[in-house]
Amino acid sequence: MFAQIITVGDELLIGQVVDTNSAWMGEALNHIGIEVLRIVSVRDRHDEIIQAIDEAMSCADVVLMTGGLGPTKDDITKKALCDFFNTKLVFNEMVFENVKRILAGRIPLNQLNKEQALVPENCEVINNRVGTASVSWFNRNNKVLISMPGVPQEMKVVMTEEILPRLQNRNGSNSVIHKTFLIRNHAESVLAEKLTDWETALPESIKLAYLPKAGIIRLRLTARGDVLLMEELLAKEVSALKEILGNDIIAEDDVSIENLIGDKLRQKKMTLSTAESCTGGSVAARITAIAGCSDYFKGSVVAYSNEVKMSMLDVDAALLDMHGAVSEEVVIAMAKGVAKNLNTDCAVATSGIAGPGGGTPDKPVGTVWIAAVCGDEIKTYKQEFNRGREMNIERAGTNALLLLLTMLE
Ligand code: ATP
Ligand code: MG
Repeated sequence: MFAQIITVGDELLIGQVVDTNSAWMGEALNHIGIEVLRIVSVRDRHDEIIQAIDEAMSCADVVLMTGGLGPTKDDITKKALCDFFNTKLVFNEMVFENVKRILAGRIPLNQLNKEQALVPENCEVINNRVGTASVSWFNRNNKVLISMPGVPQEMKVVMTEEILPRLQNRNGSNSVIHKTFLIRNHAESVLAEKLTDWETALPESIKLAYLPKAGIIRLRLTARGDVLLMEELLAKEVSALKEILGNDIIAEDDVSIENLIGDKLRQKKMTLSTAESCTGGSVAARITAIAGCSDYFKGSVVAYSNEVKMSMLDVDAALLDMHGAVSEEVVIAMAKGVAKNLNTDCAVATSGIAGPGGGTPDKPVGTVWIAAVCGDEIKTYKQEFNRGREMNIERAGTNALLLLLTMLE
């Protein structure tokens, strides 16, 4: 089954609101084996909405719409739907009761709220238990169109509880299976070259996608068709892939490096701290984004100046003089210093020139030294990569986490 998504709202087209609804729906549909052909965002204009519906209904089996259902004048999806499906708005008791229930004790009911109980006559009305805008489900020529509220939270509840189960029923046993691998130590082109033979021999029903992100490549295998058959085919290809990439596969799931690190530290009952110069605490931020990280993460020292590197991390002034702050020696001292002062088993430290200024011929912008320590073991990595300050910092954070992960393996 093929779907098209239409999101409605001027705010989406002027960049005031990012269309997160489409991404969420795309992922959810994929999970139940429905392939999204196209995502379209349109303005709050009657004719443009109709045009988008017309086009979508001509090529997709399922059309999902969000937005433009609210009580204000700029919300005109309902009117456009009535015109497209040759129907009119009628009062719906169930929706009215729901609007009253939602607004009770919050705001007095006005004419605009009452109008929310008006729904297209020839659709099935599905209740929205978390909001006032109802859901309309239209059937036509064996195709369906579903119009949902634009508020992301409301859309998600309605999709999860009502729409996805029904669509899954319509779609039968056909499914889409995704399998994602995280790959380290490869540039995208190098990886592609290494996988050429394997990739060319993949069966027709399995597709491959490369999704690089700051030093890691997510490799996604997608199989479409009968679930059992696809699982068997995938298993065969996966073991071939593992033969080729071995240890460079760091996970067989779409997880973050910080999650993998958390698992390892918990397993080993070890604690962690970070000492960050150029990454400014972003490594700690990534680690603490994981729920439950207090089991292993103790804290971080953002040691941006040499003064703080000395006072908080016990980095020797002589070391800084001799090698400079961006050096293997200093970054090791930073890692050891934070591990000692915060009393942790492991630590990771970064020090680099994020740019745009501050580079020298022997330490150009983008040079970052990273050190990970764990007891007596020390690992270092020199990053030489300049794609602008923001990317340099992000990449340094990822490399710091990768180095730590390698150390914990
Ligand atoms: P309600 O009547 O519950 O307000 P609605 O269908 O009228 O729902 P809109 O008025 O179009 O929805 O949008 C409601 C809110 O949801 C707005 O804050 C809007 O910016 C946000 N929103 C709408 N569409 C999207 C989208 N595609 N992605 C993310 N946010 C969205
Ligand atoms: Mg709107």
